[in-house]
Amino acid sequence: MALLKIRHYPDPVLKKVAAPVTEFDDALRQLANDMAETMYAAPGVGLAAPQVGISKRLTVIDCSARDEDAQLLVLVNPEIIDQEGEACEEEGCLSVPEYYAKVNRSARVKVRFQDLDEQSHIIEAQGLTAIACQHEIDHLDGILYPQRIRDLRNLGFEDALAGQMTPMPD
Ligand SMILES: [Zn+2]
Repeated sequence: MALLKIRHYPDPVLKKVAAPVTEFDDALRQLANDMAETMYAAPGVGLAAPQVGISKRLTVIDCSARDEDAQLLVLVNPEIIDQEGEACEEEGCLSVPEYYAKVNRSARVKVRFQDLDEQSHIIEAQGLTAIACQHEIDHLDGILYPQRIRDLRNLGFEDALAGQMTPMPD
């Protein structure tokens, strides 16, 4: 077990499109374990590999603090294959400390992913887990949640825009 260093915006690794995982080996298993420990310690409900400086399509999610039946999800090469409904919940991000904002998302998503043994699965998520899936998969595409907000200035990001965060590119 090891806690990993969480990268903060504007670290360039957060803007990269992450590469698919192709090696399902002990190193991947170790990385997933370390990411889960890092997420729980933060604490957070999700963490994507680029947030710890590794540009690979791997994310861990655990929303059980708010969704009682949730548990640790380790998603390798996840992709959203269906989505419906609308949700708008306050989101934060371990890579964008001290900011929170409501973000428009889909209420329900169907996600195809592989587990650490390279087996494919499809899950249907709703509630906080659905939002976390969208937020974390965005990380794998180099997208941070403020980029999902049309007008940052109306949502308390003035300081971010004027100060240590520069405006995010589209
Ligand atoms: Zn995040």
